Amino acid sequence: MNYRKWICGIGILIMGCMLSGCCNHAYEGPTCTSPMVCIKCGKTSGEPKEHHFEEANYQQPETCTECGLTQGEVLQPDFEKYGIICDAKEDVEYPFENRCMEGDEITVGRIMFSDYDVFSADDAHEERDGYEWRTVTATLVFDDENANKYGVADYTCSVSDYYNIKDANESWNNDMFAVNFNGKEYTQAIYASELLQSEWVEDALMIKKKFFVSVPVGYDGIVVWVCNSQTHYYQDYINAEEELKVLQSEGTVLFRMK
Ligand SMILES: [Zn+2]
Ligand SMILES: [Zn+2]
Repeated sequence: MNYRKWICGIGILIMGCMLSGCCNHAYEGPTCTSPMVCIKCGKTSGEPKEHHFEEANYQQPETCTECGLTQGEVLQPDFEKYGIICDAKEDVEYPFENRCMEGDEITVGRIMFSDYDVFSADDAHEERDGYEWRTVTATLVFDDENANKYGVADYTCSVSDYYNIKDANESWNNDMFAVNFNGKEYTQAIYASELLQSEWVEDALMIKKKFFVSVPVGYDGIVVWVCNSQTHYYQDYINAEEELKVLQSEGTVLFRMK
């Protein structure tokens, strides 16, 4: 009889330990959503941690670095903020009105973007860690009477940042500029262009220009633009304020590399 009592006693002792903390607790946590929890007995201790939110950027809202919880919205891209329409499609011709070389006459030409491509490297473009190349070609044709009589004045072209016009502009240095992608600053983005053709072919002035950018892999914020000479006459330097005017002008055709 005593033997049975003894077994019973051990049983009670074990039960009692489990209930009253003889457990050699092994705690995990705390996390943002739960306090410390013993993985053996489930006992909790303390309070949950506070979320640690990182600032919102153009791709992600405020995000907790611990648990990934998000709150709020992504930052509004500048192109949306300023109502800049950027909807040129590949292989579609758009009218492009430009001043003539002589006098105040206007020539009505056409512009088309084509051969949009994304690649990591080719013969002329080296592979760059964390970056990729994007390219598109713009073809302009001026073949109306005014173009033939009075010539065609210079147009301006460059690239802008869909998300952040000012910072990209102000970071510009010898065709290198900065973009912010997923909250990270990439300071080595590159812009380059190559004039493939600029000549009269019978009664048509044919201009073909290829644009290249080197941007962080996956970055969809670069907009190539071509602006007529009545909106902006070519200068070496264009500040962020002028850039915004150029982008908002009806005389500018914009193609987003996305
Ligand atoms: Zn425990
Ligand atoms: Zn959290």
